[in-house]
Amino acid sequence: MRPAVRIDGVSHAFGQGGERLLALHDVSLELRKAEFACLVGASGSGKSTLLNLVARLDPPTTGEIETFGSRTALLFQEAALFPWLTAADNVELPMRMRHVAADKRREEARQLLSAVGLADFEASRPHELSGGMKQRVALARALAQDAAILLMDEPFGALDAITRDLLHDELERIWLERNLTILFVTHNAREAVRLGDRVLVFSSRPGRVADEFRIDLPRPRRLESPEVARLAGLVGDRLREEVLTRGH
Ligand code: ADP
Ligand code: MG
Repeated sequence: MRPAVRIDGVSHAFGQGGERLLALHDVSLELRKAEFACLVGASGSGKSTLLNLVARLDPPTTGEIETFGSRTALLFQEAALFPWLTAADNVELPMRMRHVAADKRREEARQLLSAVGLADFEASRPHELSGGMKQRVALARALAQDAAILLMDEPFGALDAITRDLLHDELERIWLERNLTILFVTHNAREAVRLGDRVLVFSSRPGRVADEFRIDLPRPRRLESPEVARLAGLVGDRLREEVLTRGH
């Protein structure tokens, strides 16, 4: 079966000549359809660079990236909502850009906000929402792009533990209901094991996939369960090894 995303021999450099910085080196990776893959790596290891390339914000210096059967939607650590728009208007925006009819847009936005647990907040503006609620709106807006491939760049990194826990549950439910393919970036090994079918360990400078762990634990998983802790320990050891051998 065709994968959802194929990354083939991708290297990426920033800058020119002596200032040239190789951020990614020969990254190859396939995500199968409906897979939840997590990418863990130290900061500066090129995780965001890779997501941006998959989202086609930039072409890779060398190598190829293909996505099959769907567009991609990118989510960041900051929700990046338009402050002057209501939650519903923020969610409607990508549909407006695709020229979806107004009544259909409104109905879809309502359903998406309800799917992320914000049915009563359609008319709220971002400043009236908590950090977790803003990320929920951002998730609804990403889903409104009609994308089956979600690229998530440390989306819950700024949230408190309880909110993050709730959002893990919600994201898992939405992923299953909608058959999404997710590439989720985090520097937190536990979060990666809580969520992923597969955890990819990224090495630093230049970034490349150093190792991968298949996570076969039944779902839903608890962040604090001993099984998650044990596997996260293995992932963490592997990460530390990469960071130490690469002089960080
Ligand atoms: P991560 O997301 O893993 O923290 P990044 O992908 O943001 O890492 O960055 C990888 C490396 O590339 C870092 O050394 C960073 O400074 C560099 N980098 C990222 N974006 C740019 C850019 N637009 N121009 C120059 N260097 C960049
Ligand atoms: Mg980053």
